[in-house]
Amino acid sequence: MNHVEVSGLKIPVTVETDIFVAGGGSAGVGAAIAGGRSGLKTFVAERIFALGGMMTSGLMSKIAISASNHGIAEELLKRLDAHQKSDFLSGRHEVPIDPELAKWMLDKMVIAEAGADVRFGTTISGVIKEGRDIKYVIIDSINGLEAVQAKYYVDCTGDGQLGFKAGASYIVGNEQGYGSSPTLMFRIANVDIEKLISEMEAHPDIYASEQDTYSNHKISPAQNRKNIAGDKYAHFADFIPLIRQKAKENPGFLSDWELEMMLQRGLIFMNQPQGTHVLVNSTRIPYFKGDNSKELSDAVVAGRKQAAATFRFMKAFVPGFEKSFIMDTGSLLGIRESRRLTGDYIFTDDDVNSLRRFDDGIVSNFGGVEIHSVNGKSTDIKELQGGFYTVPYRSIISKDLDNLYITGRCFSANHAALSAARNIAYCMALGQAAGTAAAQLLRRNKSQIRDIDIKPLQKELESII
Ligand SMILES: Cc1cc2nc3c(=O)[nH]c(=O)nc-3n(C[C@H](O)[C@H](O)[C@H](O)COP(=O)(O)OP(=O)(O)OC[C@H]3O[C@@H](n4cnc5c(N)ncnc54)[C@H](O)[C@@H]3O)c2cc1C
Repeated sequence: MNHVEVSGLKIPVTVETDIFVAGGGSAGVGAAIAGGRSGLKTFVAERIFALGGMMTSGLMSKIAISASNHGIAEELLKRLDAHQKSDFLSGRHEVPIDPELAKWMLDKMVIAEAGADVRFGTTISGVIKEGRDIKYVIIDSINGLEAVQAKYYVDCTGDGQLGFKAGASYIVGNEQGYGSSPTLMFRIANVDIEKLISEMEAHPDIYASEQDTYSNHKISPAQNRKNIAGDKYAHFADFIPLIRQKAKENPGFLSDWELEMMLQRGLIFMNQPQGTHVLVNSTRIPYFKGDNSKELSDAVVAGRKQAAATFRFMKAFVPGFEKSFIMDTGSLLGIRESRRLTGDYIFTDDDVNSLRRFDDGIVSNFGGVEIHSVNGKSTDIKELQGGFYTVPYRSIISKDLDNLYITGRCFSANHAALSAARNIAYCMALGQAAGTAAAQLLRRNKSQIRDIDIKPLQKELESII
């Protein structure tokens, strides 16, 4: 067996593969399925024991999918609908999702069908380079350290972990170095949502929403009832008048920090396919960079503390929650932004707002800028009035390396543009583009990702452009 030597350690080269996918979140799933289906030997290293990343283990409530995305994300949603005998995809723009069902379906699509060699409990721990090429990735798992050699590498870790370890350039946050604030999602079970809707109809003033949100989230109680019955997305926010009133009537129930935290964001929750539980998106961690292990650990602890306080209020004062309990909190912190790797082109908010379509566009998207302020106090939303923009191939190739794709939420974008272009279906499409591009390069015997022939690639990616 071949070995590589790192700091005096002899590490066995145990895997030779065509494409190495770092991280099995939305982008990793897209890359692995596209690579596997194109006949590439595909290896995926995932640090936790499930595929889907934020979508599943981060407990995301819904998949935002544009009307023009007919790629792997649409396929996943169709299959979830078929399995649960629902019709959620007809709501198209935002499709509620069952994270557990998605984990199982992704195992099937990525491992059983696309044939990818997925290694759970496996972390990227280092990189050996030769010039501008990654030669080996060192992985760490229950096996100990191993080296994997691939022809092409795709960083789908969300945090730019592979690029970072390969010394690729990256940027963190806005001008002050902070990113959009993260959220620890949690689910509450045994909720009588019908009771809540009736109360909201009976007392519109106390259940009025004060904060700015997406126009399609401003749903009347009657419409929410219809949406739930009709397999569509329901959204409840923000209960700030109720929080104020209950705090006044029950002095001391909420501590000062709890009241401040709850008034900042209010209560935001959504329906889930099973109907008796909701998913809460109310916690926020301010001034977050996402590139430091102590900061990450503290953020998860703070998120759980906020979730416990929020739930205590909901159980006590929100109608329909009297018999509820916390079902789970995300096993991954909901990180909106951490390291953004630098590509040949940095995609910008101007590209988003002007609906720019690039000559080397490989994926289209419809999301507008949505910055969760770095202090956690507000959300700046700039909705697009329809239409699509594309993201160029140059934004998914690392500027410093010749065989590294950078996809998902660590692709090359500025702070504001990432806030628009980080939805699940879009990250999956970016991964799909990278896996498809690698297969085309291999068929033409090209080892450098800049040698892509863009027209044939765009032809094969028609379903997502
Ligand atoms: C609170 C919140 C709410 C959101 N709401 C929505 C929404 O409603 N709809 C929507 O479409 N999008 C939403 N998003 C955005 C979306 O969920 C994410 O941007 C998207 O899922 C990111 O996918 P990804 O594959 O790039 O990264 P991730 O999902 O983060 O996946 C990265 C994967 O890499 C793995 N990994 C990381 N480091 C390593 C390593 N060193 N070794 C091995 N594996 C590693 C991780 O475990 C993970 O599985 C939301 C995001 C947040 C945070």
